[in-house]
Amino acid sequence: MRDRVVRRAALLLVAASVACDMSLAAEDELGDQYAAALRAQLPVIDDAEATAYLSAMGRRLTQVADSASRDWHFYLVDDTTVNAFAVPGGHIFVHRGLVERSRNYAELAGVLGHEVAHVTLRHSVDQLKKRTRTNVLVTLFCSVVSVCGSAVAQIALDVGGQVLFAKYSREDESEADSAAVGYLVAAGVDPRGIVTMFEQFAEQRGRDPTALDAWFGSHPLEESRIARTSALVRAVDGGRLASLDGAGSGFVEFRESVARRRSGR
Ligand SMILES: [Zn+2]
Repeated sequence: MRDRVVRRAALLLVAASVACDMSLAAEDELGDQYAAALRAQLPVIDDAEATAYLSAMGRRLTQVADSASRDWHFYLVDDTTVNAFAVPGGHIFVHRGLVERSRNYAELAGVLGHEVAHVTLRHSVDQLKKRTRTNVLVTLFCSVVSVCGSAVAQIALDVGGQVLFAKYSREDESEADSAAVGYLVAAGVDPRGIVTMFEQFAEQRGRDPTALDAWFGSHPLEESRIARTSALVRAVDGGRLASLDGAGSGFVEFRESVARRRSGR
């Protein structure tokens, strides 16, 4: 079943790559297929309450961010490393480690806003097209000769963030940061969380680099990026900034419940 899902996604991808651009409908279908393969591979936390909190947080942003009204989904992954990644069509996966290291609502919302932007600005779909070309050929070969079922399963495993979404360009990162600041302000959330989260990432890179490997592998972070984002935040009217939500109702309880949870695998 899983192999079939991955193979179907690969075929869709080839069809989409052949076309000049991918329609939103194709992006949705492709994203749904990949997200299904990912959910089958990753230790997604089965906690309705915590997932609902994360989803509400995400939807607060997508309501102002997504003019295409995608069907957004947010998942908590039982992984203590700091990472989050976006699948085309509107699927955002958030590691438990990221939630646990967020000092307030605005910091986690900042990363969510950044990931949402990779979808709405269609960076994630471009990544998918670029990065999977080789894998797609392997997958197609396997499906034609039908001798390498395990290879197909391996490709699905590779989908876990590092290989598939190998690295966004600096331009993509910069665009996603700018868009995230705008999304947070429009949604009534304090955008200073984006800056303090990035500062925290940079600081932790020095202390415990392995905990952030996956994030830095796909989202290059330089000092200049922090400075640029900080300048964007400073451009927001002071009175407006002071009125925005930084703490978020129920955030501490949400973070504690996530810290207690395991996927059960
Ligand atoms: Zn990014």
